Amino acid sequence: MALPDFTLSAGPVSVTARTLAGLSQPMLYHYDPEFKAAFVRTQDKVAQIFKTTNDIVLMQGEAIVGLEGALRSLITPGMHVLNLVQGVFGKGTGYWVSGFGAVLHEIEVGYDDAVSPAAVEAYLDEHPEIQMVCLVASETPSGTVTDVAKIGPLCRDRGILTYIDTVSGVLGMQWETDEWGLDVCVAGAQKCLGGPPGVALISVSQKAWDVMYANPAAPRDSYLSLIDWKEKWLGEGRFPYTPSVSDMGGLEAALDQALEEGIDAVVARHELAAEVTRAGAQAMGLELWAVREEILSACVTSIRLPDNFDNAVVRDLARERYGVMLSHGQGAGNLVRLSHMGPTAGGMHSIIGLATLGRTLADLGMPVNIGAGIEAALSVLSAQRK
Ligand SMILES: *Cc1c(COP(=O)(O)O)cnc(C)c1O
Repeated sequence: MALPDFTLSAGPVSVTARTLAGLSQPMLYHYDPEFKAAFVRTQDKVAQIFKTTNDIVLMQGEAIVGLEGALRSLITPGMHVLNLVQGVFGKGTGYWVSGFGAVLHEIEVGYDDAVSPAAVEAYLDEHPEIQMVCLVASETPSGTVTDVAKIGPLCRDRGILTYIDTVSGVLGMQWETDEWGLDVCVAGAQKCLGGPPGVALISVSQKAWDVMYANPAAPRDSYLSLIDWKEKWLGEGRFPYTPSVSDMGGLEAALDQALEEGIDAVVARHELAAEVTRAGAQAMGLELWAVREEILSACVTSIRLPDNFDNAVVRDLARERYGVMLSHGQGAGNLVRLSHMGPTAGGMHSIIGLATLGRTLADLGMPVNIGAGIEAALSVLSAQRK
């Protein structure tokens, strides 16, 4: 099959020419002074987008290596952990939490809904034994967000650790690691930042390091070890293993572009793209997946499909017939996702996604008003650009 004309997926996303150039720099030895300096600069730039003075660890591998490594490092056998579940990634965190030996507590809602700060507060009031709260800031498969701005501080004020999957959160929403008192945050390069999949971006508070060091079960001398990164690289300037040299070049290029554009401007661009996409989808007669508008994420719009339209069939046809790669719900439900993430957040990308989805559904026999949808989306886009 030919390559797609447009990749409008929920990560990895299309990257800019400048990011591609960053990925094709000379293959330096990892102890070359130039590479070491670039690694340190890149950590500082990640700290800027996280808005933190905490340590930054750049684990080499997709975000999952950071999520798993951090959680294994934090979970002390018998620890009481409250996990918030509103989607596939949150559910997966829970399997890890109990698998790694903690006592799992969960607040779970439908995958088209969000756990409220009030529910978290009430649970913590009733369960003073909770030592850590785990949550997913942006449930990418369902296109919903969790209110980290409220839940973070309420955990911090009670001295409870927070472990946050913000793989598609950072740059796709307002993000304040320090102001919200977040202990461990893990982001991915290949989502709203528009970088390559291959590096996990992690911030670690002093409190989190203290817990890891006191934890006999924390991985050491292991690919999953955060302590190795703290002691060897941050402490002694020695890498625990060879970093992914090319990915680091792409990551720094993507960070430079985000910082030059401005963090607030990048977030605003995602929000505007989401507004265009939602307006178009609804005017077309499609139903948004999320049950409430306040919980919609800005990086992806999930659209609910009727039972007789299989999301896999829709996605395959869009790719085959129109050369546009869309995403499915990764098990969240029968939905299809129009992503507006990284370089695809903005301008006509949403229009292409809407037109593709609309026509694909029409081809499969669903009554959709494609014209009205495109018209509505363009009206929002045009008003934004005035
Ligand atoms: C992309 C993503 C990850 C990384 O998981 P993959 O399955 O490797 O893509 C983790 N959490 C969230 C919320 C994500 O969006």
